[in-house]
Amino acid sequence: MFLPYEVRRLSQELESKSPQEIIAWAVETFWPAIVLSSSFQTQSVPLLYMATRIKPDLPIFFLDTGYHFWETLMFREELAHKWNLNVIDLRRDARWDTFARQNVRSLPLEDPNLCCYIHKVLPMQTAMHQKLAWISGIRRDQTSERAGAQILEIQKDGLLKVNPLLNWTRWDVQAYMKEHDLPAHPLFEKGFRSVGCAPCTLAVGVNDDERAGRWVGRGKTECGLHTTLFEKNLGEAQPEFILHPALNGTSK
Ligand code: SF4
Repeated sequence: MFLPYEVRRLSQELESKSPQEIIAWAVETFWPAIVLSSSFQTQSVPLLYMATRIKPDLPIFFLDTGYHFWETLMFREELAHKWNLNVIDLRRDARWDTFARQNVRSLPLEDPNLCCYIHKVLPMQTAMHQKLAWISGIRRDQTSERAGAQILEIQKDGLLKVNPLLNWTRWDVQAYMKEHDLPAHPLFEKGFRSVGCAPCTLAVGVNDDERAGRWVGRGKTECGLHTTLFEKNLGEAQPEFILHPALNGTSK
């Protein structure tokens, strides 16, 4: 829909806009071919709240990896019910079931890139085929990878990623939640400042980086959804994997 140079110009223009203005622009431009993705952790709540006030039936993709904390699934249910959210669960393709079941405990520990690719990247790639734009909740202050992100980012397949909260800090999130009396994830007060899948998330200290408890000791700091892995097909991604499962029928 937009050429790369137009995306760069628009992204610069949106740098000075509020998250609500960026969301409103994206919804107006791309509806109905636009979705929001959410991991239903504390940091996700402001974006869910403001986006669904702008577009109540905005589809919300939730990656049900099978590795979530029980508390995350309960929190997802609580918010979906309370705010009448249009949540759509995304799950791994059944062609990976045998391999994933055989390696259910070891996969996140031995090869988190492959695990994220199977449980997050592939389901999201498939679900995005009919979409033009994807609203994500990443912020520049979260990781070094995210520090270099742009408000608008075009993927090589033309999908436009929209990052309305990019210029917010963790303090902005907290202030917005307080102002609107928004609920926190049940594990937040136990030190889980950033909550992902259970095998890949530890509690952190109050002065630690928000995402310091993610993939600890595994040489991984970023979810595959927000790296170049997201733009790769299986053949292109395979050099990044440690395990090499039989891939019969998984040639996406
Ligand atoms: S976060 Fe961990 S358990 Fe979840 S998909 Fe990635 S590697 Fe697997």
